[in-house]
Amino acid sequence: MFTAQEYRAEVAALVPPLPVVSRPLARCLGLVLAEDVTAGVSLPPFDNSAMDGYAVRAADVAAASAEHPVTLPVADDIPAGRVDVRPLAPGTAHRIMTGAPLPPGADAIVQVELTDGGTENVRIDAAVRQGLHIRRLGEDVAEGTVVLPAGTVLHPPQLGLAAAVGVGDLPVRRPPRVLVLSTGSELVAPGEPLPPGHIYESNSVLLAAAVEEIGGEATVLRFVPDDVERFRAAIAEHAADADLLVTSGGVSAGAYEVVKDALTGHGVDFVRVAMQPGGPQGLGRMDGLPVVTLPGNPVSAALSFELFVRPALLGALGHPVVDRPRARAKAAATMTSPANRVQYRRGRHDEGMVEVVPVGGPGSHLLASFAASNCLIEIPEGVVEILAGAEVDLILLD
Ligand code: AMP
Ligand code: MG
Repeated sequence: MFTAQEYRAEVAALVPPLPVVSRPLARCLGLVLAEDVTAGVSLPPFDNSAMDGYAVRAADVAAASAEHPVTLPVADDIPAGRVDVRPLAPGTAHRIMTGAPLPPGADAIVQVELTDGGTENVRIDAAVRQGLHIRRLGEDVAEGTVVLPAGTVLHPPQLGLAAAVGVGDLPVRRPPRVLVLSTGSELVAPGEPLPPGHIYESNSVLLAAAVEEIGGEATVLRFVPDDVERFRAAIAEHAADADLLVTSGGVSAGAYEVVKDALTGHGVDFVRVAMQPGGPQGLGRMDGLPVVTLPGNPVSAALSFELFVRPALLGALGHPVVDRPRARAKAAATMTSPANRVQYRRGRHDEGMVEVVPVGGPGSHLLASFAASNCLIEIPEGVVEILAGAEVDLILLD
């Protein structure tokens, strides 16, 4: 019998770090940078204007005000992208656009709103201090510095920064390829007629989505009946280019436990974890392919993925943080729990709430309760009752 904590470490150890590949920026969202990115250019790469307006010497307009404007001849016009910028002669202004290079000799920008916008001569209605509206070379990034250290999670701002320093491809750990296989002779695909005694298959959709949510690539294998040969055949076809196989169902103590029957003696150990739901679990390597076998009840499968597989995949991707955020809150109702296992109840805890409201009971089939919750209430091993008003630990799911 493993504790949930121990089992989590077992699953993490099963999934090695994913290979580092070079990917175009557009395909890096959510992935983790595997090596430092050093800026090949400074940002800004040259002194430039932060405003549409006029480049001036501050001293030339020091006396300007609305009552006593100063008029200067406009000696040049500098759009963004211009490269042949001439120096600013004393007593003149250059019309300049945002992002255009600052002419040598200019030390301030007068924004166009404080002028008459003239193109031959410009009337300036306010004094400006030296340096106003000038963006200096390197004030954001100095060339040669590390702008994105290895281990950075690539959200939109980080991808934008990589592009801004001229990098088109990034070294990242590639997404894990996960095979998802549901088992059970009672299962029917959603959208099809439901014969008596059957249920709609939901685990593969949920698990594949959970893989994709963290940047993985899920391949859902057509779910198989409780038939060992068909189970093996379904896997054999896809095993070669997968990083992990996740199955659901067929691992508990009954008869017709297809996953157990097919994988026992083939590198997979079937074990019990001291938790509820999700006690029966299995893991190992089948011909080198890491395999995690989850119990079939939808909430058990979902929680097992959440607690064991998700952190393992995030770790393999190189994520610095693989845990969900936690919080503490007061239980809004009394809950009971088995003594010898950690129990995960589903709950609702919204921003600003002091309490957490349990959603539904402990049953592992209560998928609608799970879908209505946004956190897990963790009742530790050894605790058999949480009284209403007592503080509990939460794992925040979104
Ligand atoms: P098992 O672990 O195969 O005994 O399944 C436990 C319970 O979960 C049974 O009630 C199954 O019908 C249900 N179940 C198993 N797999 C799925 C699935 N893929 N989708 C929905 N329910 C499932
Ligand atoms: Mg089954």
